[in-house]
Order: sequence, then C-alpha cells, then structure tokens
Amino acid sequence: MQLVSVMQSFQEQPEQQGNITLSIIVPVYNEQAMLAMFHHELAQTLALLPKEQIEVIYVNDGSTDNSWKIMQSLPPIHANIELVNLSRNFGKEAAMTAGLDLCRGQSAILLDADLQDPPNLIPQMLNKWREGFDVVNMRRSDRQGESAFKKACAHIYYRLLRKLSDVEIATDVGDFRLLSRRVIDDIKKLSEKNRYMKGIMSWPGYKQTCLTFDRPERVAGDTKWSFIQLVQLGLAGITSFSVKPLKIATWLGGIVSIGAFVYSAIVLFQALFFQNSVAGYPSLMLIQLWLGGAQLMAIGLLGEYVGRIFTESKQRPIYIVMDNHSTPSLKVSRSG
Ligand code: UDP
Ligand code: MG
Repeated sequence: MQLVSVMQSFQEQPEQQGNITLSIIVPVYNEQAMLAMFHHELAQTLALLPKEQIEVIYVNDGSTDNSWKIMQSLPPIHANIELVNLSRNFGKEAAMTAGLDLCRGQSAILLDADLQDPPNLIPQMLNKWREGFDVVNMRRSDRQGESAFKKACAHIYYRLLRKLSDVEIATDVGDFRLLSRRVIDDIKKLSEKNRYMKGIMSWPGYKQTCLTFDRPERVAGDTKWSFIQLVQLGLAGITSFSVKPLKIATWLGGIVSIGAFVYSAIVLFQALFFQNSVAGYPSLMLIQLWLGGAQLMAIGLLGEYVGRIFTESKQRPIYIVMDNHSTPSLKVSRSG
C-alpha cells in the first residue's frame, strides 16, 4: 500500500514524466559524515550536464544517525531530488532495489554515498549509454585503502563466482554501474527476496561494456560491512546464482565412496589373510575427521539452500517505504 502511494506521489509531479534521462540512486546508511560533501560533489558534476533531465534518489536505509535530517536539508541542485525513507535498515541490496523500483529515468546509475564511486565519471557513463550500451559496468582497477587480505579475498571470490555462476557476472565490478530502462524493467520482474544485486543486475544480459577506474578510499565514516557480513554476502552470491556447489558435493561424495569401497576391500583383505586388524588407528582417525568435516560442510551447504527456499516461500516485501519527499530541480524552480 505504502509503496503504491509513494510511486503515485513520485508520478504526480507534472514535469518530465517519461523525459528523465538519468536517475542516480544513492543508498544511504549512517552517512552523516559524508552526505553534504557527497551532495556537493555530485552537484558539481550535474551542473556540467545542464541539458539532461536528472533525478537523484537518496534512499535512507534506516539510518540511526542524522542522515535523514541532513538529507531533508540538502540544497536544490540541477536535478530533482527524491528522498525515500525506509522503515528500518533492510541492507544495501534492498535499498538499491527500492531505488530501482521507484526511479523513472531512461537510465539509472547506482552510486555509493561515500564518494568511493566518483560522481565525475557520470558523463562518461552516459556517453556509453548513448552509444547504445544497456549496461555500463565500472571495473575497479585499484582498491585504495583496503587491506591486502581484503583485496586478495575479493580477487579470488570474483573469479570463483564467475566459475560457479550460471550467469555471466563481471569480475571486479561492484554495484556502481549504469543500467538502461529495459534492463531496469527486467530486473523489476525478478521478485526474489534474497537479493544479490551484482548477480541480479547481470542476469538480464543485453549489450554490456566496461569502464575502468581507481576506487578511492572512503573519505569519512566507516565501511558498513563486517568481515562476517562480507562472507555472508559472498555466500549469498554463490548460492543465489548457482547450484554447482550442490553438484560438487554429490561428486565429492561419489569419489569418497569409491575410495571407501577400495579401502574397505584392502582392510578386509589384510584382516582375513594377515590377521592384522588392530593396527591403523591413525588412518581411522584421519578418515573419521575428514569425513565428519566434509559431511558437516555438505549439510551446512544444504542448509544455505534450504534457508533460501524458506525466506523465498514467506513472500515478504523486500523493503517498506515509510515516507518520501521531493525537491524540484534548480532549472524547474527557476522557470516555475
Ligand atoms: N549501505 C546501505 N545499507 C547498509 C549498508 C550500506 O544503504 O545496510 C550504503 C552505504 O551508506 C554506502 C553504500 O551502501 O552508500 C556502500 O557501503 P560501504 O561504503 O559501507 O561499503 P564498502 O564500500 O565498504 O563496500
Ligand atoms: Mg564504501
């Protein structure tokens, strides 16, 4: 209900319905230290695009600091500003989904609020879209300010995901990307509740291109992801877009069973003909431990998939919009 009313109020704005070329979607969670700076920097880039009709959608993902207050007092810029307030913290994936559901542009760009996705790349992305690309992926050539461990994990993970996934998911590309209207419309048809946006945004396919950029360090505030959350997101990516891990478990089970069959034949042979059935404590322990570990992992893996089926089956909404505000573009307020 609430979602419908928000969409209506967005659509009630008379100007440029259908003419908006670009929607910029910014998920915001506890970014009070960053918001004003981000808005200022974004405004500078948008001022260079006076001919474009642009809307900026800030999605407040249940911030517990002053982010929502600050958002409401942001100065008008050369773009409509739409503020969406979610009823609690639903997570970045849900906040981005809300933005994509509500945006009206012919294209959309997802941008982090911490300036790690530089707004000054927007004109280049728009150019690529005008050349006819539906998806402009922004590949990180360097991740400044991140530990060698995180960089190595990200490097291995993206390649593993690519190997396992049934969908072509671009490597080293985060959520920062441009999507055309037809891609957005197709994404809106994917109603899954476990949302791994990097996979979801790659799923429709279409004409894709890649631009490379150096990902700068976060200017202020802290990353919102703990190591465990990153591992969970990583697992979500694999289990949402591939059943290969289950198949691998089956194959491993098969190989181990064959090994077990051969080994039991040897043990039986030794016991029958050499009466040496007591020796072998180390091998017994090793097999016990390895098999126990492998079984637990396989059960855990099954649990991941069953858990996903469980959350899907509940059919809960992905997010709830509590309220929204709009500030017209400087251009509109001047002429009107
Ligand atoms: N974010 C969000 N909801 C969350 C966590 C993060 O909307 O639950 C937003 C956050 O405000 C930022 C973006 O997602 O705009 C990226 O978050 P962060 O910088 O913490 O991620 P990192 O760059 O460390 O991967
Ligand atoms: Mg960041």
